[in-house]
This record gives sequence, structure tokens and C-alpha cells, in this order.
Amino acid sequence: MAGKIIINIERCKGCGLCVVVCPKRIIVISEKSNRTGYFPVEVDNSGCTGCAACGMVCPDAAIKVYRDDNTGDESCNKSGPSLIKEKV
Ligand code: SF4
Ligand code: SF4
Repeated sequence: MAGKIIINIERCKGCGLCVVVCPKRIIVISEKSNRTGYFPVEVDNSGCTGCAACGMVCPDAAIKVYRDDNTGDESCNKSGPSLIKEKV
């Protein structure tokens, strides 16, 4: 299953919780700081499954998770094929 996340780097405080919980280890702390001086995270979305662990653990609601629900399962494919839906 494919997924992707979008990180609001200005909200991120670089706490690293999402880095720890991601089962795919695709989130890393950036070398560039944001406007408030924190080092936010960045992601390689190519390995993302859309599991939403990162979005659930983020204390600053800085991560939006999207998942491709085109699994053939009617219960999670109500909005048409290949639609990436916001999960968190
Ligand atoms: S949704 Fe899951 S796989 Fe994707 S970045 Fe977040 S924790 Fe990692
Ligand atoms: S959990 Fe949220 S605030 Fe912490 S590093 Fe990840 S995106 Fe940033």
C-alpha cells in the first residue's frame, strides 16, 4: 500500500518522535532550521505505507498522512481508484 506524508516544517519542533516510530525509517532530521530555529524533519516518501504512526505521535500536528486506498477492498475504496485520501 502506498502512502505519503506532508510535513509542516514551520510547526515541527524537531522532537524526533516521528523518526523513532516510523517502521520504514524514512523520516530524518533536516540539516536546515526553520524560521523559529528548530530543525524539522524531512521524509523520503517513496517508502511510505501511510500507516499514520508518525501523524498520531506528533505533538504539534505537523504531519498530514495520505494513503492510497486503491486496494480493491470496497470498504476503503469509496472515493474512486488511486485517490490519495487524507488519513490523519
Ligand atoms: S505514514 Fe508510516 S511509513 Fe509513512 S512516514 Fe509516517 S510512520 Fe513512516
Ligand atoms: S513528531 Fe512532529 S514535531 Fe516531532 S519531529 Fe516529528 S513532525 Fe516534528
